[in-house]
Amino acid sequence: MGILLGCIADDFTGATDLCNTLVKGGMRAVQLIGVPPRGYPIPDADVVTIALKSRTCPVRDAVDQSLEALAWLQRAGARQILFKYCSTFDSTPEGNIGPVADALMEALGADLAVVCPAFPETGRTIYHGHLFVGEKLLADTHMRHHPLTPMTESNLVLAMGAQTEKRVGLVPYAAVDAGPEAIAERFAALRQGACSYAVTDAVADRHLLHLGAAIQGHALITGGSGIALGLPENFRKAGLLEAHDATALPAVDGYEAVLAGSCSAATLDQIDHMAKDHPALKLDPFALADGYATDLALDWAKEHLRNGPVLIYASAPADDVAEAQKVLGRDRAGTLIEDAMAAIAKGLVEAGMRRLVVAGGETSGAVVKALGIEGLAIGPQIDPGVPACVSLGDRPIALALKSGNFGAEDFLTKAFGQMPGERQRP
Ligand code: ADP
Repeated sequence: MGILLGCIADDFTGATDLCNTLVKGGMRAVQLIGVPPRGYPIPDADVVTIALKSRTCPVRDAVDQSLEALAWLQRAGARQILFKYCSTFDSTPEGNIGPVADALMEALGADLAVVCPAFPETGRTIYHGHLFVGEKLLADTHMRHHPLTPMTESNLVLAMGAQTEKRVGLVPYAAVDAGPEAIAERFAALRQGACSYAVTDAVADRHLLHLGAAIQGHALITGGSGIALGLPENFRKAGLLEAHDATALPAVDGYEAVLAGSCSAATLDQIDHMAKDHPALKLDPFALADGYATDLALDWAKEHLRNGPVLIYASAPADDVAEAQKVLGRDRAGTLIEDAMAAIAKGLVEAGMRRLVVAGGETSGAVVKALGIEGLAIGPQIDPGVPACVSLGDRPIALALKSGNFGAEDFLTKAFGQMPGERQRP
């Protein structure tokens, strides 16, 4: 039968977040890392999300990657396509949201697509077309100074308009609040006005549910994770979505480890919490630069695996990070640590570790790549935005991949409780 919904996400952790929302809605989700090669089997799932790294790459690359992903998802049977970007509309004036959406729209022959990054659960709301983060307009938040995607325009009609030649209109609050019929009327009016994009107001989950029902027949949807909230119900109503436990994961037995490279405040607290009663080792970037620390850390971890979960972390307070960056260079410090984490992850898997928590978006990317993971089956949520998952393939590994500020204080150990299986030698 193939998959129902095909998603293209412009970054890795955003893809996981989207899958998490869909799994909660009852759709079995698989996340693939990049466009799979020809002949790659179609996963047994309701949703496949292809995670790209296309948020800040050159526009042409982003468009090419996205069209390749679209072609793969269409071959897999996708009946609807969702282009997922960040709930803070992370992009530059050139793109990549507009050009990618344009290319997908043309390839699909779609005439109107919503633009809806709203995610009220995380404080991202849209009113009169303006994107708010909590109480502040987007352009008045830290996003104004983002190093790669500085957001200086809060009005999404203008922000999207700057990235596309196509016309952009608004579905205002009154219509979204009134319900799917009022939204559909507004869509018809926008089509008559030759608009190709409809920025949609949404300040509460019920608005996303109204929108979900109204976009039932749309070939292309664009937005954040929130816009996925109402989609499972459409497939259920159409008799296409079977009732099953979408969060079920295969059991994976093996030793447990936590690798942390994020220096966010939340991660530092989580490390303190875990280190109180678990074996923990801090990696020093200067020792890594001298070239021997990785092997020592791996030997240490192997000794303690039996009493795990073990924790290996590079995470440090801002002053220490600044010092390491000053002496070693910003990129070199980051790369030294990411390479070390990748090598340690590989070594631990060889030693029987099969259950792994990684803290840090870039750190997760480095570890997943080193372990040769091509895709993940997404399971139950551990904390908002972070699900447990299991890698696809012959030698599955249970994983929780957490970007910076996510998760409660006990996340690093609690995560293992959401992974079916036992801590033991496999
Ligand atoms: P987050 O999700 O919090 O942004 P990332 O893993 O994406 O976390 O990024 C953290 C970056 O900081 C990584 O490149 C990591 O290697 C680097 N890093 C971690 N610890 C240190 C440290 N002590 N000194 C310098 N850089 C560090």
